[in-house]
Amino acid sequence: MTTTDPDGRRAALLDRLQGCFLGDPKPGTLPSGRTEALRRLHAYDPAAYSRTRNFLDAPVSRLSPYLRHGMITAVEVRDHIKTAFPNDPARLKELLRQLSWRDFFEQVLAWHCRGLEADLEEPKHTVARSARIPLDVVRGDTGLPCVDGMLHELFDSGQLHNHARLWFAAYLCHFRGVRWQEGARLFRQFLYDGDIASNSASWQWVEGTFASKPYFMNKQNVATFSGGRWCDTCQVKCQFDADYPTLQHRLFGGSTAPMSARNAERGTQNDPPPLPVRATPDEIGPLTAATDLVWVHDAAISWEDPAMKANPTAAVAFVFDEPSLRAEPWAYHRFAFVMDGLDDLFAHVPNPTKLTLVGDPSERLVALARSLGATTIHVSEHPNPWVVETVEQLRLSVRVVIHPRPVFAEYPHEPKRFSRYWDKVAPQVLGYRPNSSRRMHQ
Ligand SMILES: Cc1cc2nc3c(=O)[nH]c(=O)nc-3n(C[C@H](O)[C@H](O)[C@H](O)COP(=O)(O)OP(=O)(O)OC[C@H]3O[C@@H](n4cnc5c(N)ncnc54)[C@H](O)[C@@H]3O)c2cc1C
Repeated sequence: MTTTDPDGRRAALLDRLQGCFLGDPKPGTLPSGRTEALRRLHAYDPAAYSRTRNFLDAPVSRLSPYLRHGMITAVEVRDHIKTAFPNDPARLKELLRQLSWRDFFEQVLAWHCRGLEADLEEPKHTVARSARIPLDVVRGDTGLPCVDGMLHELFDSGQLHNHARLWFAAYLCHFRGVRWQEGARLFRQFLYDGDIASNSASWQWVEGTFASKPYFMNKQNVATFSGGRWCDTCQVKCQFDADYPTLQHRLFGGSTAPMSARNAERGTQNDPPPLPVRATPDEIGPLTAATDLVWVHDAAISWEDPAMKANPTAAVAFVFDEPSLRAEPWAYHRFAFVMDGLDDLFAHVPNPTKLTLVGDPSERLVALARSLGATTIHVSEHPNPWVVETVEQLRLSVRVVIHPRPVFAEYPHEPKRFSRYWDKVAPQVLGYRPNSSRRMHQ
């Protein structure tokens, strides 16, 4: 654990969360919290971004875990970058355009909600897909040094460069014939920034159910953008070593699934045995009565978050969603990141009652509101279906006030293709209209 735990609060929480995370608690996770997010943002120099961002060793911002948890917002990143580097708009353009992908995907999620969990469009090929991730992939032991390298980075560090995500997604969907949903789930479990919007929409982009064609790479692409990290010494017969038309024909030319029968029979990823959901212990001591309660969800861990900021005297509660986590456990490092982020938040706010709970969020929040005498629950707006559905549940029992988030870009149309979205929002994001806005997603 990265923080000291003198009163054993965190140990008790982890004990309560047994079965909700993968791996053992261990030190050395990514520094978390808004304090760290601001430090990173202010230290970041985007000078080389547009020239280098596709290379694995590029100085990309690595801000996504903080953006994912609302420790910092895309609006803050955009405004800071434009203010801190006012004399070089052309060089900032690419970073701001990439940041806009995040907003675009959130707009896609807001539009489709749970619909994003299924294919948004018809697949552009007829190749069959399996609902199981082969065991060698889950073990990071495919025999391909590049794929195993990416998997070990994912499992051990919880981070993966965008290009590596694209390669791995293409490998799993097209070369191994696995449904994109399985890969998205693996990413959600292990990536610090694992979310629904950018994750599911990007997997669909690779699969071609949210793009005009599937994305795939060849060996030369991997070798170039990885700096030869794996390919220079690779001895295996490489499945990616062909030109694009050949690969296109191999992967999508016929209707035969690119998986062997042997692969299809292999096991699934780490589905944990179902554990009994424990009765909720009464871990909350005597509480100070409050008329309002703020629900801090996992995309709103910031003292600048609108619901927090508007309610400095309200009780504040975060709830680890036990039923969801038992169904889809997180890697331990994701927990540590959230818990450290909450410690940072709670240390910075004046609110007298600050709680971290475990259980069904709507049940726990309603019970807490009752025991506090709170009549209103405040929450910050977010398109995550889990947040939307929890709010609907809460509304059956209490008054709920939703606090709007700062708007990154106004786009009152169905978000279908990034190029169309960017044509409309670029002037808002950049402050001027760029010459050409059509570029590939990568
Ligand atoms: C298959 C796949 C799954 C992905 N899953 C996630 C996910 O679960 N969570 C997540 O936050 N991102 C996801 N991404 C998008 C992207 O890979 C990460 O946001 C990016 O790698 C984060 O690194 P960075 O902060 O250094 O980004 P930078 O390159 O420094 O960009 C700055 C910010 O812009 C946004 N951004 C940049 N590129 C993209 C992009 N292609 N799509 C969306 N937003 C972008 C991110 O918020 C990022 O923090 C996924 C991409 C792919 C291909």
